[in-house]
Amino acid sequence: MVLIDTHSHLYYSDYRDDLDQVLARAEAAGVHRILTIGVDLQSSHECVRLAETFPAIYAAVGIHPNDAVDMQSRDVQEIDDLLDHPRVVAIGEIGLDFHHKQTPPEKQMHLFRRFLERSQERDMPVILHTREAEQSTIACLHEISPGGWSGVFHCFGGDEETAAQAIEMGFCISFTGNITYKNSRTYQVMQSIPIDRLLLETDSPLMTPVPFRGRRNEPAFVRYVAEKIAEAKNIPIETVADQTTKNAVGLFKLADENDRAQSAPQTEPGTKFSR
Ligand SMILES: [Zn+2]
Ligand SMILES: [Zn+2]
Repeated sequence: MVLIDTHSHLYYSDYRDDLDQVLARAEAAGVHRILTIGVDLQSSHECVRLAETFPAIYAAVGIHPNDAVDMQSRDVQEIDDLLDHPRVVAIGEIGLDFHHKQTPPEKQMHLFRRFLERSQERDMPVILHTREAEQSTIACLHEISPGGWSGVFHCFGGDEETAAQAIEMGFCISFTGNITYKNSRTYQVMQSIPIDRLLLETDSPLMTPVPFRGRRNEPAFVRYVAEKIAEAKNIPIETVADQTTKNAVGLFKLADENDRAQSAPQTEPGTKFSR
């Protein structure tokens, strides 16, 4: 069974001592491809460096709404430059977070629109973070294009109606360990999503699924998210694995798994893309 973890943050210090083992466990669990997602300029550079180093890892680069408060326009320019890197497969994470409001909403929206425009110009998928801001997110997207989007609403926490709107606009939806939590409302929402629009993710090191809740999360645990979807939809886990892998490969234009060794790190670590 082959799975893809489409959302992790492997550059955090949580993995400083044992990233090799974390990746070995992922490989052993069938998680042969992992996206790691930047939240600011520095972590975006770190994602690119990880993707240059490890064949299993692909990078997304962007500025998270909660990390945008001190952001300068030259940071955004530098993110744009990183999009040229062959191992960068998406713009993210970007979006709106009106729960924390560490960054004023106006500034969040300005930055979000800027990255959305970039996604349209470059035909690159977006990885969206949305918290207590679903309708503003849909409105921003609509302003720029009413449909034909390529991207994902990650760690989805909205309702069925918002999910349906996102799907209508072209998006996929992904869920983390949050669907494994008891009495999860998100579990019900997940049941309404057609399987050809679902992606799997861990959001490691956060959102650890049951039965490991309370511990650090890691890509190998994406299997528990897949199991929960299989249970909810009453289909074999292999079907969930096959379909979500197909969805992720198509969305992020990932190389065929058999070509991974050849297609992986074409750039020498330490080129101009690294810090
Ligand atoms: Zn997020
Ligand atoms: Zn994240």
